[in-house]
Amino acid sequence: MTAESVFDRYRADVDRPMRRLFAAYGKPRYGWFAVGVLANLLAQFASLAPPLVLGAAVNKLSGQTYSLPLVPESLLPTGAEPLFWLSVVFIGGAFLLTGLFTYVYGVAANEFAHGVMHAVRVDCFETMSRLDMSFFDDKQTGETMSILSSDTENLEMFLDNALTGAVRLGAMLLGIGVVLFIANAYLAVITLLVAPVMTLFTYWFMKRAEPLYAARRSSMGKLNTRLENSIAGIELTKTTASEAYETDRVRGSSKQLFDDTMAMLRLSYFYRPGMELLAGVSFTLTFLVGGYWLFVGVPPGASGQLQVGTFVSFLFLSQRFATPLAEVSNIIDQYENAKASSERVFGLMDIPVEVDDPADGAELTDVEGRVVYDDVRFAYDDSETVIDGVSFEAKPGETVALVGPTGAGKSTMLKLLLRMYDVSNAAETDGGIRVDGRDIRDVTLESLRDHIGYVGQETFLFGVKLSGGQRQRIAIARVVLQDPELLVLDEATSAVDTETEYLIQKSLDSLSANRTTFAIAHRLSTVKDADEILVMEAGRVTERGDHETLLAEGGLYADLWSVQAGDLESLPEEFEARVIDESD
Ligand code: ADP
Repeated sequence: MTAESVFDRYRADVDRPMRRLFAAYGKPRYGWFAVGVLANLLAQFASLAPPLVLGAAVNKLSGQTYSLPLVPESLLPTGAEPLFWLSVVFIGGAFLLTGLFTYVYGVAANEFAHGVMHAVRVDCFETMSRLDMSFFDDKQTGETMSILSSDTENLEMFLDNALTGAVRLGAMLLGIGVVLFIANAYLAVITLLVAPVMTLFTYWFMKRAEPLYAARRSSMGKLNTRLENSIAGIELTKTTASEAYETDRVRGSSKQLFDDTMAMLRLSYFYRPGMELLAGVSFTLTFLVGGYWLFVGVPPGASGQLQVGTFVSFLFLSQRFATPLAEVSNIIDQYENAKASSERVFGLMDIPVEVDDPADGAELTDVEGRVVYDDVRFAYDDSETVIDGVSFEAKPGETVALVGPTGAGKSTMLKLLLRMYDVSNAAETDGGIRVDGRDIRDVTLESLRDHIGYVGQETFLFGVKLSGGQRQRIAIARVVLQDPELLVLDEATSAVDTETEYLIQKSLDSLSANRTTFAIAHRLSTVKDADEILVMEAGRVTERGDHETLLAEGGLYADLWSVQAGDLESLPEEFEARVIDESD
C-alpha cells in the first residue's frame, strides 16, 4: 500500500461531504446557527435605514412629504422640527441596532463555526488514534497533521466567513430590492438593471477561477508535504550535506505555488474592478434616469413624480450591493475549499479499523498467564511472510526468551501478543495466539493490554527529555504499578551503560518472577536463565530449549554465545552475510 492510497481510497468514497458535515456536526448547534442568521439579517436591514431617513428628510426640506417604507404616515409627526429630531433618533438608532445585531451575530456564528470545528478535530483525532498500526507504519503523519490542522481550518473559514458573506449578500439583495421597489418601482428597475449582468459576470469568473483555485490548492498541498518531509529528514540532509539539493526542491514547489497563485490573482484583479465598474454603471444609470425625471421631465414609460429625497436614497443604496456581490467569488472559493477539506476529514474518519474489539465485547479477566502460540503466521503486507508458522507454549510464570539475528521476527512476535497487529491465521480453529485458552481476538483490546506489561526499545514519555536508562526505569515503574500477569520485554536493556544495565536487569528479574514473561535481548547473558529460549531465523523457530540444551546442540545459539564471550571466529559465515544484508 503506497503512502497516499489509504487516504485517497476512502476519500473517493465520501458522499456529499458538506451535507454530512452539517448533518453530523451542524445539527446539535443549529440553535446558534439560526440566531446567527437572524441577527445578520436584522443587522443588514438596520443598515439600510440611514439612507432612507436621509431621503425622507431631503423630501421634507424640498416641501414634500416625509415618508419611510413600511412606516405608516399616520404615525409620523408633521412639523419640521419634530421630524428632524425623529430622523436623528432613527439614524442613531439604526447604527446602534446594526452594531448590536452584528455583535449577536458574531457571537452566535462563531459559537456555531468553532463548535463544529472543535467537535470535528476531536473526532478526527479519536478516529485516528484507533487506526491500525499498519496505518502509522506508512508514515502518514504529514498528511494526518494537515487534516487535523489545515483542513479543519478551511472548514472554519467557510462556516465563519463564507456563510456570513452568503447571508449578507442575500439580505442585501432582498432588502435593497424590496425597499427600492416600494419607493419607486420604475427607478428600481433602472438601478437593478445591472444585477443580472453582475451575476453573469460572476458566473463567468467562477468558471475560469475554479480550475485555478484547484491548481493552487494542489500546489499548496504539495509544498506542505515537501516541507514536512524536508524538516522531518533534516538530520539526513545535514549528514549528507544535501541542503542545497533540498532547498532546490522546496524552491521548485514554492515557485509552482507562486505561479498558480499569480494566475488566480490576475483573474481576481480583473474581476473586482469589473464589479466596481458595473456598480458605477448602476449609479450612472440611476443618476441619468432619476436626474432626467427631476430636471427635464417624466422619462418614457414612467408616470407620476419622483421626489428628490427618494432620488438621494436610490443613489446611496445603488452603491450597497456591489460589495457583497464581489464577495461571491470568495464565498465560492471557500465553499470549494471546505468541500475538499471535509472530504479529507471524512476520508480519514472512514478508514476501517481491522484490529478491533470483538462484537460481543467480551473481556479478558482472571488471567492465570498460560500463553499459547499455535502455528502463528503473519505478514505486514501481502508480499512477505514475516512469521512463518511458530508454535510454543508458556506456562504461568515462565520466561520465554527470543533470540536471533535482526529481522528474524522477534519484535513482531511480541507485537502480535499485544495485538498491535492481528495474526494472519484465518480463524481461531486455524491457529492464533491464546491466553488461558482464549483467542486474543475474542477479547477487548483494552482488557488484553491491561494484563500485559510492556517495556520496549523506545519508551516514549510525552515531551520530557530523559536518558535511555531513565526512560527504562520509568517504564519499569509503570509496569510495577500496572501489576500485569504477562510481561513483554523488548531489548529492555539495550540503550544503557553496564552499571545501569545491571540495576535494570535486577528490577526486571524481580518483575518477571511471578509473571509469564517474553524477553528479547541481544545480550545473551540476560536471557540465559529463561525457561525456554527460542532461536528465530527468518520467521521460524530453528532451535529451542534452555541455555544448557542449546549450548550442547552446538547450533546458532552456541555460536552466538561464544561470539558474545569474545570468540568472533565462531560466527558462522552465512550469518555474517545475513547481518550485512539486513542492515542494507
Ligand atoms: P527482529 O525483532 O527480529 O529484529 P522484526 O520483527 O522487527 O525483527 O522484523 C521482522 C521483519 O518484518 C523484518 O523483515 C522487518 O523488515 C519487517 N518489519 C518489521 N516491522 C515492519 C513494519 N511495520 N512494516 C513492514 N515490515 C516490517
